[in-house]
Amino acid sequence: MAVKKSNTIKLKFDSARNLAPAPESKSAAKINERYDLFINGKFEKPSGKKYFATINPANEEKLADVAEANNADVNKAVTAARTAYEKVWKKTAPKERAKYIYRIARMIQERAREFAVIETLDGGKPIRESRDFDVPTAANHFFYYAGWADKLEYAFPNRNAQPLGVAGQIIPWNFPLLMAAWKIAPALATGNTVVLKPAETTPLTALKLAEIIREADLPPGVVNIITGAGETGAAIVNHPDINKIAFTGSTNVGKIIQRAIAGTNKKATLELGGKAANIIFDDAPLDQAVEGVINGIFFNQGHVCCAGSRLYVQESVYKTVVQKLKDRMETLIVGDPMDKNTDIGAINSKEQLETINKYLKIGQQEGAEMYQSACSVPRKGFYCRPTIFTNVAQSNRIAQEEIFGPVLTIQSFRTDDEVIEKANNTPFGLSAGVWTDKGSKIFNLTTKLRAGVIWANTYNKFDPVSPFGGYKESGYGREGGLHGLQAYINLV
Ligand code: ADP
Repeated sequence: MAVKKSNTIKLKFDSARNLAPAPESKSAAKINERYDLFINGKFEKPSGKKYFATINPANEEKLADVAEANNADVNKAVTAARTAYEKVWKKTAPKERAKYIYRIARMIQERAREFAVIETLDGGKPIRESRDFDVPTAANHFFYYAGWADKLEYAFPNRNAQPLGVAGQIIPWNFPLLMAAWKIAPALATGNTVVLKPAETTPLTALKLAEIIREADLPPGVVNIITGAGETGAAIVNHPDINKIAFTGSTNVGKIIQRAIAGTNKKATLELGGKAANIIFDDAPLDQAVEGVINGIFFNQGHVCCAGSRLYVQESVYKTVVQKLKDRMETLIVGDPMDKNTDIGAINSKEQLETINKYLKIGQQEGAEMYQSACSVPRKGFYCRPTIFTNVAQSNRIAQEEIFGPVLTIQSFRTDDEVIEKANNTPFGLSAGVWTDKGSKIFNLTTKLRAGVIWANTYNKFDPVSPFGGYKESGYGREGGLHGLQAYINLV
């Protein structure tokens, strides 16, 4: 019997899935049984004496109890940050501020393995990603902004850059350490002090960072890290002595924050949801494009605000691309995030898995055709197979709403104008990707796509030098690069 091409590929893939396990060791990191709040340079018990559990989404086992900060704790943290700002940090010479930030960067590098293991255990992302992306990029952010601390006069020639004061920073669960670095590094470089709250499902690397900050001898109160859920976040947002809110998270909470600070003097940067178009033209190198699409949607289980979750393929190559995508999906290894072979780890929480599954149902009810890779997934823990939808209409909810999981919608297009219109037909405007051999097409699209970040012939590339942020419901303000400094200063 003749063997069909897809079968040959499948056999190869099955053997790829049968790779011997290559687990990273849990013992590479020490996780305490209980974590308190990091306020004024010390770990303090929460005044309400409440703790919540953080679990490993890969196996649903508890990792640690974490303090829940109430209004009184938030007030303590803000007071510590205010005192540190007035008495110490705003008077600290910029070149001295830089030394502390460099020290933090180096300490992250020295403990990279520990950070990577904790990040993967607490959040479910593959260890390869924590090790090769999250932790090094977090260290790079501290290095980058350390460099700016004593050069603000060159960043803003003929202007005097003044810090804002106390920054309240609230971060999500998809890149816990990296988001902490994005927020803390520019704030410190520009002379602000910080009260940071990590997300309730992934607090552990921020608390590890607190330990490093203490060891780095940063003056007490300059960085305070407090844990809790939405109420704790709201208490930070509503505290009258906060000068700036930096928030990364859902568009819904972003809107709540915007309403809460309306009419106050608080400045804000909001980095919210996305529904990025990834566009493949028929002249693109297709294998490279397919690899970029895989990375664009399946990196970090699709828990990426700039994920390329809407694929548009030019009609003449549509069938070829869909087949190549399906073939490539079959090679992806889904499972234990601590295994170095794993491509797609655990979904971050039970709630998020329920949200994703809800959208899988909605997509099918809307008439789209669902395809999932045939891989097996562990029975315990939260997992979702890589999924694509074809036969999608522009108005379908799966093509309009952010799913925040490994789920891709695919549509075809014929002309540049058509794809530009379709790509921009979204409430979001965070990112986009363009795959083509023609520079002129890249220029045409990048000027017409309404997205803060546009990648050409690549996807999900991050560098501390590049600003990142969105339009429309994706929020406002930029983080990273020179623009990232602006969010933390007044120019006088
Ligand atoms: P997701 O829906 O993806 O979990 P959220 O926007 O709810 O994202 O969470 C992002 C961060 O915002 C988390 O640290 C969370 O605790 C915090 N948060 C949630 N609700 C509020 C709120 N009302 N005010 C301030 N922060 C909040």
